[in-house]
Amino acid sequence: MNSSNSRIRLLRQFILIAASVATVAGQAEQSQSAPVQEEAAAIRQHHLKRLTERLTVEPAVLEGRCRYESDISTPPPLNRVALTFDDGPTESGTEEILAVLQKYKIHATFFMIGEKARQHADLVAKVRAAGHDVVANHSWSHPNFHDIDVARQTGEVLRTDSLTTPDGPKLFRYPYGNSTCETNQLVHEHGYKIVGWHIDSCDWAYDKSGAIDAREAISCGVPRQYQNDYVGHVLAAARSRRGGIILMHEIHPNTLKSLDAIVAGLLAGGFEFGMVTDEDFQSSLR
Ligand SMILES: [Zn+2]
Repeated sequence: MNSSNSRIRLLRQFILIAASVATVAGQAEQSQSAPVQEEAAAIRQHHLKRLTERLTVEPAVLEGRCRYESDISTPPPLNRVALTFDDGPTESGTEEILAVLQKYKIHATFFMIGEKARQHADLVAKVRAAGHDVVANHSWSHPNFHDIDVARQTGEVLRTDSLTTPDGPKLFRYPYGNSTCETNQLVHEHGYKIVGWHIDSCDWAYDKSGAIDAREAISCGVPRQYQNDYVGHVLAAARSRRGGIILMHEIHPNTLKSLDAIVAGLLAGGFEFGMVTDEDFQSSLR
């Protein structure tokens, strides 16, 4: 996002979102459960903050502060996709996902929140047993790393460290994708690779019925024709990036409901499934 064109595009998005964010927050989430609603509201708020910052702060300054390293700008391995599921484990979601992955005999990466993983050790074990041997670090309690001090950032990472697969590859993903130079250094010292995404499925913005508000769609870059078609949006994004690491969240009912169709659609589109730990995805990690 270095060109003035992209800043103009962001400005347009920002104006539209700022005008509508309160309305949208009220409408889109009415049918969701309270924790999911809160999480979606938090993502929405951080999304807006990110757009604002990218418009008002010079790109070089943001880069110097290591702020937004999670949007991967380098190309993925051609026509290869890697599914990633954040914010679990969850009581019904994790097993639903495992069943779909098992049906298609593919593997994915789970970026788990430490405190949830501690509560659901059985689910962590099931994910490992199914061959998804990476139970990656997504912090202990999912704060925005831009809003907390370095000591708390360190605690969030290290407390979750013991839950990662022993002797396995170590992967870290920032909550909301919001990175800092201090935590970049910390996780590298502890042998982690940082995992962002090529494709944001924007699943947090789709409601339970699979619809996204017009203005929210603009903020997440969902084309108009996919406002009622989450699966179509993910498939189109994969075609446009020619593969890549796909960001999804296991806490959203629409994501779970759509997963089978997404996998089937990607396979029909000629994509091959890999994991972020595969050799050819290494250049996409930091
Ligand atoms: Zn998350």
